[in-house]
Formats: sequence, C-alpha cells, structure tokens
Amino acid sequence: MTGKLVIGNWKMNGRLAANLALIDALQADAAVRAAQVAVTPPFAYLGQAAALLAGSNIALAAQDVSAFDKDGAYTGEVSAAMLADVGCRYVLIGHSERRQYFAEDNALLARKLRAAVAAGLVPVYCVGETLAEREADAYKAVIAEQLTVLGALAGHDYVVAYEPVWAIGTGKVASVEQIDDVHQYIRATLLQCHGASDSIRVLYGGSVKADNADAIFSLQSVGGALVGGASLDVESFGRICQAAEKTV
Ligand code: PEP
Repeated sequence: MTGKLVIGNWKMNGRLAANLALIDALQADAAVRAAQVAVTPPFAYLGQAAALLAGSNIALAAQDVSAFDKDGAYTGEVSAAMLADVGCRYVLIGHSERRQYFAEDNALLARKLRAAVAAGLVPVYCVGETLAEREADAYKAVIAEQLTVLGALAGHDYVVAYEPVWAIGTGKVASVEQIDDVHQYIRATLLQCHGASDSIRVLYGGSVKADNADAIFSLQSVGGALVGGASLDVESFGRICQAAEKTV
C-alpha cells in the first residue's frame, strides 16, 4: 500500500450549483489537494464533475455500475465503458445500501466486478456485517462469503472497503480493535484464498469524521476511508484528508 486513499461517497445528494460549490471548495483546500482522493457524484452529475475536475488530483468515481457489459436494450442502466468514457477511475460495487435496497447478491456483484475491470475501472468492493451478524459473532463468515466473488479478479487492481452496516450513517464508529481485527482478516483471506497481492488496499467506512480519522488511519491495516456524510462538508473532508496524509 502506498498512502491512504480517501473516497467521498456523496450518495443521492447534490445539484448543479451545490456540486460546483463543493468541488470548487475541495480544490481550494490544501489538505485535499495533497491527498489521494476521489469523489462519487450521482450518475447525473458525473459529466459536470469530470469537467470541473479536469487536471485535478481528485479522481472521479461512480456509485454503481451495470452488470451488462455490452451496449443495448437495458433501460436505465449505465455501463462500465460509459463510466470510463466520462472519466471515472473508480466505481463502488456492493455498497450495503445497494445490497439492502436493491437486493444485490454475490452473483450480480461478480458480474459488475468483471464488467468494471474489463473497462479499466478500479472497483471498490464493499463488504460488512449487520448488527445482528456482529452480535451473533458471524461477521467473519459473512465477510468471507462476500469476499468469494473477488476470486475472479486475481491479477486486476481493486480496492476493498470494510463497512460495518451498523456504523454507516449512524454515528457509531467501530473501535480501532474491531477495525484492525476485520482488516487483518480481509487481507489474510485475500492473500490466501484469492491470490491478491500484498499491496491490496482495504478502506474503512462507517461514520468516519474529522475527530476519529487520526485513530483509524493510525492502523497499518487501514489503507484509507470511504466517507459518506462527512464528504459533503468541506471542512470535515479536508480534515479527514489531512489525517490520511499525516499517517503516510
Ligand atoms: C458510506 O456511505 O459508505 C458511509 C460510510 O457513510 P457514513 O460515513 O455517513 O457512515
């Protein structure tokens, strides 16, 4: 791993004027400019963001991608080739909100992952357990099952994001011990079972804020953060980027 990657997940937020203000402010922030960083506007605004980010260190990422890899009669879908065409470098795949609200399962996610790498995108594959699974001590089995789809990506560049569902948007952040435990487990599983290289990056996501970022980034097993709510606030996001750079 070289440095920490910070990805802002905007989710279904933004308008033309608000995006312009946010991107301008991010580009004016010294900590954001110094960091390895990406933002994920909704599909409708990828073109706008790509134009604003031309020549910037802030990479463009999408929040989802179609599993269909050929153009055609798939109303409402956006392909990996289209995302690459508008300038995306990364794409989130398997976010828990997609698994929960759109019933995305491993079979579908494997297709999305294959489509993404075939188009030259770097997938950011999200895994994580629910509170009930954590309390039943089943979290490692759940994560192992979610990771199985990565077997097909050996030799490709990808990122994993560990996002305990109970920590997303709840203000409840996992403890550093919990994060380190799962990150070590994910890294070991990927190395042993899926032929991943040691340089694989595992991000943490789940209520990352300016005031907990230092502790999270101090863990060697953490390769960066996937940030939801705090990514819409320039000051918070800038301070998270600053924390990421401090620990490089
Ligand atoms: C996310 O959306 O991936 C996320 C981690 O959200 P939040 O930071 O708001 O918990």
